[in-house]
Amino acid sequence: MAQTVLVSGGAGFIGSHVTVELIQAGYDVIVADNMSNCDKTCLLGARKITGRKIPFFKVDFCNRNAVERLFQANKIEAVIHFAAFKAVGESVEQPVMYYRNNLDSFLNIIDVARTHGCRNILFSSSATVYGQPEELPVTEESPRQEATSPYGNTKQICEDILRDSVKAYGNVRGIALRYFNPIGAHPSALIGELPRGVPNNLVPFITQTAIGKRECLSIFGNDYPTPDGTCLRDYIDIVDLAKAHVCAVSRMMEDKMKEPYEIFNIGTGRPVSVLELVNAFQKVNGIKLNYRFAPRRPGDVTAVWADPSKANKELGWKAERPVEETLRAAWNWEKYIAKK
Ligand code: UDP
Repeated sequence: MAQTVLVSGGAGFIGSHVTVELIQAGYDVIVADNMSNCDKTCLLGARKITGRKIPFFKVDFCNRNAVERLFQANKIEAVIHFAAFKAVGESVEQPVMYYRNNLDSFLNIIDVARTHGCRNILFSSSATVYGQPEELPVTEESPRQEATSPYGNTKQICEDILRDSVKAYGNVRGIALRYFNPIGAHPSALIGELPRGVPNNLVPFITQTAIGKRECLSIFGNDYPTPDGTCLRDYIDIVDLAKAHVCAVSRMMEDKMKEPYEIFNIGTGRPVSVLELVNAFQKVNGIKLNYRFAPRRPGDVTAVWADPSKANKELGWKAERPVEETLRAAWNWEKYIAKK
């Protein structure tokens, strides 16, 4: 019988892609989400892609009783935890709301999972924990820097919660995946990113400008000490990123972990500037994008990219999709959404 993975936040951007890849790799998946920051588009898309009636539970992970009921009703072997608030700016304005939501939900999952004999917990962390690294690319040993937002801090604290829980409770093991910049959409264009309101992230802003929802893309800063003056990031294709979760989950389930708590960088290892990404988008999609240079955005780091060799070696995972394909998929998704 297939093993069952609970994907918290499975109706969202990353969660829905992970759900699809898990199912295609032979796992059974249960999606649970409180739908606070998404609609049913991606859940329905995931069902369509996989041809499976993926079980869905509307659950707020801050509600311990609801989490308890979820584990009572289902035999869950692993949890991948995505359910969290993710807007950096909002977290600065509403710190209590962010800490409460992002920490309570994870504490409930760890507590309830272990009491139900579910040993395997995968946490979705972020390269934000590295801040502006002194040395690039960053390895998993690079020091974490003090978070510059409550959102970033919740990622660090949740990593620590997982590390300490693994250490204290012999029956739990954990993996934290530190994502760099996930972008793109599924090649089917049936699932993708659905930001509410004005997008904070670069690629949704690009695609919304291309479709005419936004007038002009602002490139935040062209006076950085980088080759073309714009920031450098490690843009990782969403399907590649999703596949890393399948590798990590099977590593846990098949008892292949070297330590009971492991961390992996999930990135391509290639720095790409904002301007390069904008130009690549224009080229592959044959679109002239309306953009202008604007002042730096407060809180942005100049450059960060991954050394993904630990994930390459230990997880047997590698970023494969060329950025051109990723940007084509992002555009196809935007067009699909516009028609809906
Ligand atoms: N960016 C930009 N214009 C936008 C959104 C983002 O120039 O409308 C830049 C941002 O300054 C950063 C890069 O794009 O250098 C990636 O930003 P994003 O918010 O997508 O991810 P982050 O790296 O901040 O997590």
